[in-house]
Order: sequence, then structure tokens, then C-alpha cells
Amino acid sequence: MPIESYNPYTGRVLRRFRPFAWSRVERILAQSHRAAAQWRLTTFAERARLMRRAAALLRERADELARLMALEMGKPVVDGRAEAQKCALCCDYYAEHAEAFLADEEIKTEARRSFISHEPIGVVLAVMPWNFPFWQVVRFAAPALMAGNVGLLKHASNVPQCALALEKIFHDAGFPPATFRTLLIGSELVSKLIEDDRVRAVTLTGSEPAGAQVAATAGAQIKKTVLELGGSDAFVVLADADLELAAKTAAQARMINAGQSCIAAKRFIVEKPVLKEFISKMKTHLLALRTGDPLLETTQYGPLARPDLADELTEQVNDSVKQGAKVELFGGQSAPGTALFRPMILSNVKPGQRAYAEELFGPVALVLEAKDADDAIRLANDSRFGLGAAIWTRDAARGEALARRIEAGAVFINALVKSSPEMPFGGVKKSGYGRELSYLGIREFVNQKSVWVA
Ligand code: NDP
Repeated sequence: MPIESYNPYTGRVLRRFRPFAWSRVERILAQSHRAAAQWRLTTFAERARLMRRAAALLRERADELARLMALEMGKPVVDGRAEAQKCALCCDYYAEHAEAFLADEEIKTEARRSFISHEPIGVVLAVMPWNFPFWQVVRFAAPALMAGNVGLLKHASNVPQCALALEKIFHDAGFPPATFRTLLIGSELVSKLIEDDRVRAVTLTGSEPAGAQVAATAGAQIKKTVLELGGSDAFVVLADADLELAAKTAAQARMINAGQSCIAAKRFIVEKPVLKEFISKMKTHLLALRTGDPLLETTQYGPLARPDLADELTEQVNDSVKQGAKVELFGGQSAPGTALFRPMILSNVKPGQRAYAEELFGPVALVLEAKDADDAIRLANDSRFGLGAAIWTRDAARGEALARRIEAGAVFINALVKSSPEMPFGGVKKSGYGRELSYLGIREFVNQKSVWVA
């Protein structure tokens, strides 16, 4: 894939970048490796001071960053600004808590003193996607830098200006330049980087094939990986749910980032008695959403990030309809090779259809009929993915009990599934492994060293 800024709304290429040659990547890696030896010696107070400054810059530059996201991947500026603010929150969160999260942990043994010390591991490579071009990176970088590690970013090829803006934020905040670097490289250089001994671990957010490839290379090198991959999140609506609120949230949950979110609700599993009413209400909410130029304040959803993603989604929908799915809300791509995709609802989604088995990374809501709550849980779990899920019921205790039976990294009861710095984020099954955010996230890339004093 070329490294370029392509505006998916206008279909114009805005800027092209020459990919870094391996010799340049190697030079940066050498600098990062040297920086890691120094950075690990800094105090938490020093790191926190710089991280708070990065948070302030994210807030100050929110408008500018939102504009970049709109131009490179079609996110409406209102949402882009919110993303920048959320990144700032994450930086502040780790500035505040990293020291406590990584404090020595005393363990009672026969030794005079024994404890676990959490120590940095060095250079961590982050392979990141375009859908939340700032958030995905910051939720890796803030804990990594606070833990005393050094970050190397290989961002998606369609968001190079976002990648460079992030690097500039950390540098302007005062982090030594080699502690966070952006590499403008295609995915073909990733294996070579992982095979270098100076790279100690890898985190990837993106598709299953990319995750499998990176994990295979890292595995052969005995290197740890964290993988945050796709999802086909269930949104379970039981007959006793507040249907109006559930349908409103359903539309919102499906339309996050024009449907291109790993934790967007994708499969709406609804108990039979309320199925028709739910579809009708969700349709009303979806039709009320305004699309347009992502640079306009009034736009609520923009185009998909790239035309090929819209082409692929159209194929998934067409195949599923041929296989028996029913179109409840007509929308879709305006023309082949273009990125705008209007919301759709498909019902009668059944095994044997692509929509039943695959992730649909765009604004297509899949409705599945459940006989009862047990059937709803069975359907929710009948997926290769296990990232997030939601359950809607007026009986919160029943919701909690059902939540424990869902195979997912997160279950929200009567609420929209979202990530926040305090709560761990990640999946099971093909959605990946490892956790980001919370105290668990910062402990993924540290040496949990046992120290024994006789
Ligand atoms: P990819 O997984 O291809 O891209 C994500 C990142 O991985 C990019 O930086 C990409 O680089 C890199 N990458 C891709 N292939 C490899 C590889 N073999 N080795 C190393 N790095 C690699 O996602 P796409 O952009 O193609 O989106 C396709 C699908 O991925 C979506 O439809 C969705 O299902 C899923 N996805 C999930 C996301 C999530 O949040 N979990 C986010 C984005 C996508 P480059 O851009 O240079 O190819």
C-alpha cells in the first residue's frame, strides 16, 4: 500500500510520502535502543511531567488533529476533537497512576524480603490501524513511556500525517526524541524489525491476518505480543429491555466511526416478542443521522476510510443477501470505488451467510432472532470473535448473571460498549489476547522480576 494521505470524501490524494529505506529504519532503531538505556533511569515524576505536557498539547491541538483525521480517514471533526481529548485523558491517567501500578509488590516467603519489581523491557514496536489514529496509539504509548519503555510506531499507511503529528506531540512535550519515533514504512518491513534483537516486544491492533503474521514472527523470535483484533460484538436485547433507549443506543453503537470500530455493536440479537419494534425504532434512529463532509461541524458520520473497504463491505452484504439475509433498511455504497456507505439493516441473519460468520467493518446492522435469553447467549457466543458485548434488560441482576456466560473481553449492561483508561480492554478467541489500559495494560510490557533477599 502506498504511504499517502487520501481524502476518502473527495477521492483526492493530498500528499504522498516516500517510505523510509531500511538503512534509515536501522539508524532509528539504534537510536531508540540507546535511548531505552537512558530512559529507564528516569523517575516516574520526570516521566509524568512530560506526559502531562503531552496531554496539554493534545488538548491545545485538538482542532488541528481533528482536521487531519477528517482529511486522512474521514472522521467527522466533532468526533476527532473528542478523540484528541480522550487521548489527553489517557496521558493524564498514566501520569497520575503509573508509579502506583508499577510499585514493588511485597510477597511473603521464607526470605528476609521478597518482592516483585516491575522493570522496563526496552524498545516496543506498535503496529497500529487507521480507525482511531490517535487513540489506538496513545493507549499504547502513554503506559509504555510511563513504564520506562521506548516506542516505535508503524502506523497504517493511510494516516501518515496523523502518525507524524503524534511524534511531534511527544517531542514537543519534551520526551527525548528517540523515546518515541514514527517509522513511515509499509508492512513488509515489520517482520525484519521484529527479527531484530533490539525490538523486545510488539503490540498490534488491526485485522486477524495482520495479527497472525506479526504474532508468528514474534513467536519465532520468542517475543511477547499483545493483539487487539477484530470483533463482531453482540448487542443482546431481552424482551424486558427499555426498548427505546436500547434502539437509540444500538444505532449509536453501530455507527461509531461510521461503523469502523472493533467494539462497534455488530450483531443485534433480539428476543422474538420485541424484534419488529426494535428494528423499526433502530431504523428511525439510523435514518436521522446526517452524513456529509467530515470537515463540517454538522456531519454525524463520514465516508469509510478507504474505497476498497467500502467495496469489500458491499461484497459481504450482497453475498449475505444471496444467502438469505433480508434487507430491512436500504443504504450501502453510493457507487463502486467510492467510500460513502449509508447505514443498512439486515435481518434473518443465519449460519451459512457471510454476515453471520464475518466481521462487517462498516455501518451494517445485523439482526438475529432469539427464542429466549438462553438462545440469545448461545447466538452471542456462536462467533469466532470475543471482544465486547452488551445486554439490555430491566433486571440488572439477571443481566450480570448472563454477562458472566458471554465469551468476550468486556460486557456492558444497559450501556454502550466503550473503552476508558481505568478499565482493561482486549478480547478472547480471534479478537486477540493481552490487555490494554488500566493497571493490566501497563504491566504487559514490563519484566516482572522476582527479587529475593536472603
Ligand atoms: P490491517 O490489519 O491490514 O492494518 C492494520 C495495521 O497492520 C496497519 O498498520 C497495517 O499496515 C499493518 N499490517 C497489515 N498487514 C500486516 C502484516 N502482514 N504484517 C505487519 N503489519 C501489517 O487492516 P486494514 O486497514 O486492511 O483493515 C482491514 C480490516 O481489519 C477491517 O475491515 C477490520 O476488520 C480490521 N481492522 C480492525 C481494527 C481494530 O480496531 N481492531 C482496526 C482496523 C482494521 P499498512 O497500512 O501499511 O498495510
